[in-house]
Amino acid sequence: MSALQLSVVIPVYNEEQGLQALFDRLYPALDKLGIGYEVLFVNDGSRDRSAAILREQFQKRPEVTRVILFNGNFGQHMAIMAAFEHSRGQRVVTLDADLQNPPEDIGLLLAKMDEGHDYVGSIRRQRNDSAWRHIASRAMNGLRERITRIKMTDQGCMFRAYDRHIVDAVNSCKEVSTFIPALAYTFARNPAEVVVGHEERAAGESKYSLYSLIRLNFDLMTSFSLVPLQMFSMMGMLISVFSGLFFVFLAIRRLVIGPEAEGLFTLFALMFFLIGIALFGIGLLGEYIGRIYQQVRHRPRYLIEAVLEEQEKGKGRRVKSSQADVVAGEVNPFAVAEPKKRKAKAADETAHPSLFSDAQE
Ligand code: UDP
Ligand code: MG
Repeated sequence: MSALQLSVVIPVYNEEQGLQALFDRLYPALDKLGIGYEVLFVNDGSRDRSAAILREQFQKRPEVTRVILFNGNFGQHMAIMAAFEHSRGQRVVTLDADLQNPPEDIGLLLAKMDEGHDYVGSIRRQRNDSAWRHIASRAMNGLRERITRIKMTDQGCMFRAYDRHIVDAVNSCKEVSTFIPALAYTFARNPAEVVVGHEERAAGESKYSLYSLIRLNFDLMTSFSLVPLQMFSMMGMLISVFSGLFFVFLAIRRLVIGPEAEGLFTLFALMFFLIGIALFGIGLLGEYIGRIYQQVRHRPRYLIEAVLEEQEKGKGRRVKSSQADVVAGEVNPFAVAEPKKRKAKAADETAHPSLFSDAQE
């Protein structure tokens, strides 16, 4: 393998306002570390100018920058997944594009790894998120810790460092819906955490609505634990026992006191309660079944439109795309055999600089 020591992975979704500020801080911080690094941006189907800005940045620093352009919006975790698969560094650090985690703190994570840890999570020193996010994530942290046995103090913080062997293990997972920090955690031999700074979003707004946060937490719970399902069997058992006892009680009452028609509303209350539980249980089953369904379809988890990167041996800019695998002007000898016509056309396209401006929609 190459001597590349660090890959920094950054998912980008509609971040046009903040990207330049990110570049201005990230690159100097990485240069200062004095190690071989690469920055891997994944454009997760942004609908703004993000892709174009990333392309410009790639042209400015092609030796350390690589850009993966997705075909659509596949979510933050799929973006990280794709970057993991393309990463070459001995260590991989994931970072959000919004500058909420200071890039200057990457050194802290690496120093912790030097102590022999293969997974370094981070804890936000003081959180600068809205109050409801704060409270909700506290609650979810507690619940998650209890049912998944994954110990992360701050599950929402994506600023983490992973050793190569963990990244390889994650890459070998073919899960469709996942939560990278938790998945990686299950492969870690010696995890640790450090405290890092946290700032307010530099620009733009959070890409997570309440709805997508709930979805994400379902992913986290159901991908890593069967406890929610098991809880339902336990609850079902308890309720059956109690209703059995209740039935015996009512039967005895009928014999002792005689027929009575009061307590109708108690009955309603009881029924609604039980119906509520039953519906939630069915929904929960649906969550698992939905995931099984997604998994058995074996659809690709994400589609890459193009990868902007320099050729590994240093010369020639290579543009890879899902339809074409081409080395600046010449046909890549390693490309999978495809109809001649298509290849020729693709090679032709790379000859024109326009590829750097027209692929973006
Ligand atoms: N992101 C992404 N795809 C999405 C949503 C978000 O790649 O569908 C990226 C986003 O650009 C950012 C990171 O994931 O770099 C975290 O998103 P955000 O800051 O909105 O989340 P929050 O900090 O509010 O949890
Ligand atoms: Mg953020």
